[in-house]
Amino acid sequence: MAKRTVVLIGGGHAHIEVLRQRQRWCPPDVELWLLDVNPHAVYSGSLPAVVAGHWPVDQCLINLPTLCEELGVRWCQGRFLGLSADRSAICLADGRQLKFDLASLDIGSVPSSSDIANSHHGITAKPALNFLQRWQQVAAEPLALEPRAAVVVGGGVAGVELILAMRYRLHQLWGDRLRDWRWHLCSSGPLLSGHNRWVRARARRELNRAGVEYHDAAKVRQLGPASVILESGREIPSGFTLLCTPAAPPQSLGASRLPRDPAGFVPVDQYLRVTGFQNLFAVGDIAAFPRPLDKAGVYAVRQGPLLAANLGATLSGAGQAAFRPQRQYLKLITLGEPRAMASRGWLYAHGHWVWRWKQHIDEKFVERYRV
Ligand SMILES: Cc1cc2nc3c(=O)[nH]c(=O)nc-3n(C[C@H](O)[C@H](O)[C@H](O)COP(=O)(O)OP(=O)(O)OC[C@H]3O[C@@H](n4cnc5c(N)ncnc54)[C@H](O)[C@@H]3O)c2cc1C
Repeated sequence: MAKRTVVLIGGGHAHIEVLRQRQRWCPPDVELWLLDVNPHAVYSGSLPAVVAGHWPVDQCLINLPTLCEELGVRWCQGRFLGLSADRSAICLADGRQLKFDLASLDIGSVPSSSDIANSHHGITAKPALNFLQRWQQVAAEPLALEPRAAVVVGGGVAGVELILAMRYRLHQLWGDRLRDWRWHLCSSGPLLSGHNRWVRARARRELNRAGVEYHDAAKVRQLGPASVILESGREIPSGFTLLCTPAAPPQSLGASRLPRDPAGFVPVDQYLRVTGFQNLFAVGDIAAFPRPLDKAGVYAVRQGPLLAANLGATLSGAGQAAFRPQRQYLKLITLGEPRAMASRGWLYAHGHWVWRWKQHIDEKFVERYRV
């Protein structure tokens, strides 16, 4: 009998757990593939600590080909474009096709730039490897940038963590030589909206302390080679512009033959199956769950074991389990220096111990996928 083929598209947070649990759900007569554009998956929880210089870069990287080799999974480096006309194969950007019986999509998201003109003058926080590469150049020669100013666009957790991390790192490396450097954080909505008032107040204080100018109700209209232009017409000089705007799909899925919601994400049912498909799942940021969820790694991580079980159930003809997302989850927000705050509903805590707690969680996560 011909082997059945299961393809995991994207080495996102959910899929690496599905790989790790392979023995539990995947029968030996099934050929399992992992497809990703990059041989390294980035664990974004550790990104701010890497940017701040607390951790070396490889502490946030998971080597996908090595993981696959260890687990007996076939590795394929390539970019997913969409499905073939008869929906039986995955089409890659380089023209190759991968036949599949069952597949799952976990390709994440990127900060949205569609309503910012000339956004190519800036860089997005994801794909994280591109950002890290550019950041290393900036950190190596910040005095070469003209004007000597950095602007981060987006007042959510990623924007706050990254501006404080970058500022901390540059001051560690360059000290007083960066006296005339300016830091700006632009947010169209309130800072850290959705968090309690103690968390928001602490974030304000930390930005002040770090000398970051915070621009409230500052919607960015356009980027220039050396500036950021707001809807109000105000122009802020910028030698380095980083977008940490709300999540958008990592690429247009217009020609992919996949259903999409108005924001371009792929709708799934409570079992994580793509609408209209019995043999295709979607998880993590790219999936639009019936109840809208934050685009957060926590959900992708929690979906991993359930997806593994549902893939196994589909192969054996058993019933599917529903994903029941929690309404609130704990967010640990780093503050550049080795301090962090904890936020969940009305809970607020802050200190070096929160930072150590987060480091411990992040270290354990990455370690789990190290061969
Ligand atoms: C700075 C920062 C800090 C964050 N911190 C946290 C945090 O502390 N906690 C939290 O819950 N969330 C955090 N997030 C959000 C978190 O990053 C995302 O929600 C999470 O990564 C989503 O995981 P995922 O599995 O959907 O996809 P990802 O982990 O992003 O993985 C997607 C994978 O798909 C691959 N891929 C993309 N396109 C294709 C394609 N066309 N073909 C093949 N492969 C493709 C990519 O290379 C990547 O390996 C943070 C985000 C940022 C930017």
